[in-house]
Amino acid sequence: MRFSKLVDYLAQLEATTKRLEMTATLGALFKEASEEDIAPIIYLTQERLGPAFEPIDFGIGEALAAEALAKASGKDKDAVKKLYKQHGDYGIVAEKLLGENGKRLTVAQVFERLKQIATTSGEGTVENKTDLLSDLLQKLAGREARYVLRIPLGRLRLGIGDPTVMEGLSWSKTGDKSLRAPIERAYNVCSDLGQVARVFKAEGVDALAKIQVQVGNPVRMALAERAKNAEDIVTRLGKCAIESKYDGFRCQVHKRGDEVRIFSRNLEETTAMFTDIVDGIRKQIKAKTAILEGEALSYDPETGEFHPFQVTMQRKRKYDLEEMTVKFPLRLVAFDLLYLDGKDFTGQGYAKRHETLASIIAPGERVEISKHLVTQDAKEIEKYFMDAITSGLEGIMAKRLDSRYQAGARNFNWIKLKRSYQGHLSDTVDGVVVGYLRGRGMRARFGIGALLVAVYDQKQDKFATIAKIGTGFSDAEWPQMRALLDKIAVAQKPARVDAVMEPDVWVEPRYVIEMQADEITRSPIHTAGKIGDEPGYALRFPRVIGFIRTDKKAEDATTVKEILKMFEKQGKAANEK
Ligand code: ATP
Repeated sequence: MRFSKLVDYLAQLEATTKRLEMTATLGALFKEASEEDIAPIIYLTQERLGPAFEPIDFGIGEALAAEALAKASGKDKDAVKKLYKQHGDYGIVAEKLLGENGKRLTVAQVFERLKQIATTSGEGTVENKTDLLSDLLQKLAGREARYVLRIPLGRLRLGIGDPTVMEGLSWSKTGDKSLRAPIERAYNVCSDLGQVARVFKAEGVDALAKIQVQVGNPVRMALAERAKNAEDIVTRLGKCAIESKYDGFRCQVHKRGDEVRIFSRNLEETTAMFTDIVDGIRKQIKAKTAILEGEALSYDPETGEFHPFQVTMQRKRKYDLEEMTVKFPLRLVAFDLLYLDGKDFTGQGYAKRHETLASIIAPGERVEISKHLVTQDAKEIEKYFMDAITSGLEGIMAKRLDSRYQAGARNFNWIKLKRSYQGHLSDTVDGVVVGYLRGRGMRARFGIGALLVAVYDQKQDKFATIAKIGTGFSDAEWPQMRALLDKIAVAQKPARVDAVMEPDVWVEPRYVIEMQADEITRSPIHTAGKIGDEPGYALRFPRVIGFIRTDKKAEDATTVKEILKMFEKQGKAANEK
């Protein structure tokens, strides 16, 4: 297909926001596309060069685009930038600057060139990419360049999600959405709409059944429904497997020999972040090829106990990876098996999958099998739930024993029962007011809408912020509070106050208020307990109790040290409610 033909369709797609029209237009496009072109076309309409799980980085920013465009059109860069200021879209600028006639490139040629640009790396990358892009632009007509340039800049914005592509594919053969189910099944299994489209186009709908679980293609994950209580679980599942619900990172691990890749809940590749798990899989999984799932959690190597999610979460970074791996080592609690040594296990019952998984995990530090209890006794389930909660876990997962692994489905094959998040901290926190924000909306008339509150950092003798609080005072108390604070207002942040957030009015740290909150969370916008670049600690859903604690002075407020202790304990504390 000529790229200009694809552009006709892109223009139509751009002109509508109606889903049905989009589906019909995509249907016509897919019908016209050849077997070779259909996958590239799908990737391009989603601003990609491959399936979503293959990361791409075009490495083309606006500066590079401007440079390439100037070069291709023979205009100087200032003229290009001026046009951009007018239109706010390099696609339109390209259309205006380039001529009407291109070299009639095909979709495949444009796709290949974009791929070449994306994979250019090493010395002189920026210049090489600029040259390649400007060369491509020179060969395009203005209206082709309009869309081509938007792709690497992430500005295509056609609003075509996966479901619309799937329905468009169905439409291309039947003129309706009736084939969506088999298309979606294939997609759930391989996560690659290009591959699905190619098979569908070349061999028809029945051939989609051939698309099976394969190592290297993440499988869209099975999800859980919710239950009210243990009895609800028994009513739905009868005899079932009860596991703890671990609060970490869901990992889908693909192993082929020593090659290991890990995908997250949303199918992004996270291999680089979890080198300790990769290592563990190599050492402990007794299989040539396998796909398994589990939850990765950080734990204390001294005691073997798992840390709460807030600690595990620290591993989610793109830098200091090695240091983090040493500081917060992870362990994978494996709970499901999808594929083993050439055999697809997704059609097997859960009990069989779990049992086989247990049999291929060698003892070791990094991978363990999820423990479970098989029962149909609500009382026993209740006890399991309470035990899980008491040991700081999130709740339980109940699994239907004979259920197959249903890729991409949320149903009652798995049921989650979580601790209530309605609980609150077992203790209140006394904080010092260090500033206030002028009210908006209803509170504007008071000129005060929220307080910036700190706790006391004894070690540094500073007041570090922990909450912005706007709940708990009555309409009569707000103006009273403001009058008191205005008397101690200061022009700048007081020296002893440590804050990232800027209130409208700073005040001397004098008044202590008592606060209740749901829990303590990590937060980059507060400074309590903050060390270096790490986030601080914050109160979640704080509300004031009473008015001012006149029996306390600022240094009598809750200390950062206490907050850290409360944070550690809160998993258990909140759950005993
Ligand atoms: P969902 O993933 O269902 O959209 P969510 O992201 O809010 O919801 P939760 O409601 O907490 O997550 O529950 C589902 C998640 O629980 C799974 O995606 C998985 O990461 C995690 N999990 C923890 N323990 C288990 C277990 N034993 N079996 C299956 N999943 C588990």
